Amino acid sequence: MKICVLPGDGIGPEITAQAVRVLKALGLKMDMEEALLGGCAVDAAGDPYPEATRKLAQAADAVLLGAVGGPQWDDNPRELRPERGLLGIRKHLGLFANLRPAMLYPELANASTLKPEVVAGLDILIVRELTGDIYFGQPRGIEIRNGEKVGFNTMIYSETEIRRIAKVAFEAARRRSKKVCSVDKMNVLECTQLWRDVVTSIAPEYPDVELSHMLVDNAAMQLVRNPKQFDVMVTGNMFGDILSDEASMLTGSIGMLPSASLDANNKGLYEPCHGSAPDIAGKGIANPLATILSAAMMLRHTFGMDEAAQRIENAVKKVLAQGYRTGDIFESGMKKVGTREMGDAVLAAL
Ligand code: NAD
Repeated sequence: MKICVLPGDGIGPEITAQAVRVLKALGLKMDMEEALLGGCAVDAAGDPYPEATRKLAQAADAVLLGAVGGPQWDDNPRELRPERGLLGIRKHLGLFANLRPAMLYPELANASTLKPEVVAGLDILIVRELTGDIYFGQPRGIEIRNGEKVGFNTMIYSETEIRRIAKVAFEAARRRSKKVCSVDKMNVLECTQLWRDVVTSIAPEYPDVELSHMLVDNAAMQLVRNPKQFDVMVTGNMFGDILSDEASMLTGSIGMLPSASLDANNKGLYEPCHGSAPDIAGKGIANPLATILSAAMMLRHTFGMDEAAQRIENAVKKVLAQGYRTGDIFESGMKKVGTREMGDAVLAAL
């Protein structure tokens, strides 16, 4: 098992260190090597996704990533911004399927801004297409037309791209509550009319899964009105970017949510849903659980080790039940801990 570890920027190194401790504690035969991605790579190598990192990531079975970015790089030219490293590695490794579970632990029901009865028992999986759509479409740019600047991007999807992500969603639904809701904007965008047509054409291959369609504006509304109606939601890159953040906030803490980005052979990049949290970086108070749960997703999706994944997930449930809380999920009466202490608690629970 070859794992490439990319701690990244901000709180990234602090939280990945705890996930690495947890992985090591399982006693599995793993080869873990670290490399640079994001702002730290710009500073050290003048490239947010340097050649050495490319090689390591390419050779690995899975990549464990902290987060990238920070205000010190915000004014860099676009090609020297940390996010370029993130988009670069996703594209390079062909990671087209982003899986983001949004589930609410009963112990954290009060952390949500929604009423507990609306979110209690929430368990949604958002499947977002990650390598196409308006984020990559050409042409794109800012240019002068008729004496003024215009900005433009291209929303584009091929049948192949839509088909492969839809299949990931149907397959995932088979292992869950067997419902897929495909999200588009077919009433105004031709690109997403094709999306709906292709998703619909695949549905007969999965007669055990119920398919529905929803326009993205309605989906955004339904997610806060009645989120428990959803099981698996599948959508394009841009809509998925927004809806998955919305879904993650239903749970109250972005510090709890893992994610997986997979290629066609289940090679994957695993990372927490949150960013590099520059406001708390270096303070030892960041919540490492999203990264630890991302390591569990890695064991399940890339290495097919369900039991080991479950051990980590159970350990996380246990520390929450024991009352351990980092600042982002703290409630009075609970035991407030920092990043490393939370790692210690998970190790003890393991
Ligand atoms: P963020 O997720 O980093 O932080 C938002 C808020 O949540 C902050 O108050 C932060 O302190 C808190 N938070 C986030 N993760 C936490 C954790 N594990 N424990 C406790 N609190 C946590 O989002 P942002 O502030 O919009 O972005 C900060 C930087 O991160 C930017 O440079 C942005 O580009 C980058 N970013 C990177 C990724 C990624 O690497 N995948 C994703 C999103 C944002």
